[in-house]
Amino acid sequence: MHLLVVEDDTRLVGVLRRLLTQDRHIVETATTAAGAHEIASDSPLDAIILDVGLPDRSGFELARQLRREGATVPILMLTARDSVSDRIEGLDAGADDYLVKPFAYEELVARLRALGRRPPAVRDSRLAAGPIALDEITREVHVGTRPISLSQREFAILECLLRRPGQVLSRDQLLDYAWPYGAALTPNTVEAYIHLIRDKLGPEGAAWIETVRGVGYRIRGS
Ligand code: CA
Repeated sequence: MHLLVVEDDTRLVGVLRRLLTQDRHIVETATTAAGAHEIASDSPLDAIILDVGLPDRSGFELARQLRREGATVPILMLTARDSVSDRIEGLDAGADDYLVKPFAYEELVARLRALGRRPPAVRDSRLAAGPIALDEITREVHVGTRPISLSQREFAILECLLRRPGQVLSRDQLLDYAWPYGAALTPNTVEAYIHLIRDKLGPEGAAWIETVRGVGYRIRGS
């Protein structure tokens, strides 16, 4: 599995990285919520092991943000106390399972295995507008029957727009969605990406992305 371990206790991170790598997992690590968000936005992960107590934001907040952005990756939350309110908050935030610290490595492995067996997403993964079709799981994009190859950022922007048909999204909103937290970019970057996306979609698909002068962009509502 391609895993992301988010934990600011570097000793625990070191141990988990060593053991999980021995078990032939690909392991990425982050010690802050911001670092984790950047990796989660850029890498196709099979699961995130997410500590609640992080220096910049809580694991709950990060889980909520990832779910809000549409991430379906299974999240295994690490909580310090076995309190009902922590468990409920974790599950409400979009975690799939939780583990109370300290835990046995074997238990972590068993939980990961169970998460890996679950279907990748319960909800429908297909978004569409006119001839444009985007699958959030397979990450395929089509205009009519023609397959379109988009970069990760282009895909993220189109996905964000397609999720909210008819709704105008500002350049800043699209920046927040498609780039890691804290990335130093200007709204012009979004404009450039929209241009690239329209080019790739061709005239038939591009017509469905409307520019709203001085505000932003929207997908035509049917
Ligand atoms: Ca911690």
